[in-house]
Amino acid sequence: MRDGQAEIIQHILDGTHLLAVMPTGAGKSLCFQIPAIVRSTKTIVVSPLVALIQDQTHSLQEIGVSAECIHSAKSRDDNIVAWKQFISGAGKMLYVSPERLMQPRMLHALQKHNIGMIVVDEAHCISKWGPSFRPDYESLSHLQSYFPHATLCAFTATADKATRTDIAQKLFQGNGHIIVKGFDRPNLSLAVQPKRQFKRTLIDYVHSKRGQNGIIYCLSRNNTETISGYLQENGIPAFAYHAGKDPSERMRLQNRFMSDSNVVMVATIAFGMGIDKPDIRFVIHANIPASMEAFYQEIGRAGRDGNPAETLLFDDLQDIVKRHRRLFEQHTSNAHKIGENARLQSLIGYAETAECRRKILMGYFDEQVENTHAEGCGNCDNCLHPPTVKNHTAEAIHILSAIDQTGQYFGANYIVDVVRGSKNQNIRPQHRDLACFGIGANTPKNLYQTVMRQLIARGYLYINFNKFGAVTLSPNSQNILRGIDTFDIITPNTITPPQKTDKKSKPSPVADMLQGADRELLHLLAVFSPTALDMLQGADRELLHRLKTLRLELARTKNVPAFVIFADKTLVHMTIKKPTTKRQFLAVHGVGQQKANSYSGVFCHAIKTFLDEK
Ligand code: ZN
Repeated sequence: MRDGQAEIIQHILDGTHLLAVMPTGAGKSLCFQIPAIVRSTKTIVVSPLVALIQDQTHSLQEIGVSAECIHSAKSRDDNIVAWKQFISGAGKMLYVSPERLMQPRMLHALQKHNIGMIVVDEAHCISKWGPSFRPDYESLSHLQSYFPHATLCAFTATADKATRTDIAQKLFQGNGHIIVKGFDRPNLSLAVQPKRQFKRTLIDYVHSKRGQNGIIYCLSRNNTETISGYLQENGIPAFAYHAGKDPSERMRLQNRFMSDSNVVMVATIAFGMGIDKPDIRFVIHANIPASMEAFYQEIGRAGRDGNPAETLLFDDLQDIVKRHRRLFEQHTSNAHKIGENARLQSLIGYAETAECRRKILMGYFDEQVENTHAEGCGNCDNCLHPPTVKNHTAEAIHILSAIDQTGQYFGANYIVDVVRGSKNQNIRPQHRDLACFGIGANTPKNLYQTVMRQLIARGYLYINFNKFGAVTLSPNSQNILRGIDTFDIITPNTITPPQKTDKKSKPSPVADMLQGADRELLHLLAVFSPTALDMLQGADRELLHRLKTLRLELARTKNVPAFVIFADKTLVHMTIKKPTTKRQFLAVHGVGQQKANSYSGVFCHAIKTFLDEK
């Protein structure tokens, strides 16, 4: 049993109301399923998603637990059968959506039965403070008045302190336990780097992870295309994934990622839901995510097998400004924006800290980290290589004064330009006469950018979109201007300055690998690299295309992902070997006896037809 599960189960068995905050993948379902099975009373499970309801009831039924579900995707007759099963006593658990449960007829009918426990899954939806409030969830706050003797258990993977208190208050008037468990993932290393020489740094990093799966998260669709583009140019099998691609293409890429062992997915947040690949070895954030929750969820996709995996966040002033802008442009209430801003601000704090990053991350979720190492958590950049802390109060004063003297109406870049006395035409003539103009002419631009970022991270500056993204002073900034606060800059020590490489003399890694390779190897390599794929000769490419189409048809008929039929590698090898008999078919990479029995007929036929045509 995993960390926290036993404790939660015990509380539920004791009849204590409870809110458990556990990350996805920490074994949440078991925590309520076991008490539901053990207790003599009936249990209702409320879940917002039909897919989740179906999944869970199905897997319970498979192991012989009588669970029923009622939802809109089933026919009326099927729902009636499920209902009868449940009330007859044959079923112990009933899964329903909140809107079904809260129908007066349903409530009335259920009150006549011995409901001992009500589970509210995805409980954050009940709170207006949470990131995904659902009005139909709010009515669940009346549950206790309908079922005063039932134990109420709420589960969520994402809820900050305000949201938690709100959930507990709404569901059981705060008379219960709130338990936060399982957030720490010690096998994930945590690191942050300022975004400098980004392209080179990224390529070097991904090269060092050759043969491993990873995800690079980006802010925009454009970013995914650009980054995947230059990774491909450097021989890395990378693909852009975003909501703008058509569903079949997304499915194809996802299958490829799931079935191959060295694919890098360059994606927006559209990628990841339901991806349960255990051996993702790295997650990189090319741009800062929207919130601490989003960040945690995305890095959480790495290292699910428990083996070491790396996370790296690129920290950049422009990205922080963009995030604030997106937030401002959302069509949501001001209360929601304030909440989201706090979540983003926490993540900026994580990026700019000199402390143990694990401590900051876990502190955010209110989970304590037990430090077993003398050097802190032993698996974050700040613990392993303590950052350099240097006093830059003077530069901070330059920036704050420039913001003040220009009337708090300008963006971060403009302010840096003013301080450095830029010749930029956009600088207003009257600003060239200010005392702060050019005061830092000899200081590198990126130092001022870092100072600006850290001033924002530590609450000395706000980005104000009511003023079109102008940076404005916070009340705290007076403390620096008046000499009460000093301002230190934190410089991470993990950056390995990328070696300058002479582009002409350095062959691309793909070309490297291809030297002396025989034709078969070359073809096999094609599957790893779209650039190398171009090297496949015309006729073979056509055959490969036909085999892929055949595979897709088979996959559709059988309603399985394409890679379940054959991996891409196998199809490429098939293209080279061109088997026309079952015996030859068995010699293809990735073909076993069973697959040969199922598919040698159709594939050999397709290849034979192709050869006859040529
Ligand atoms: Zn640490």
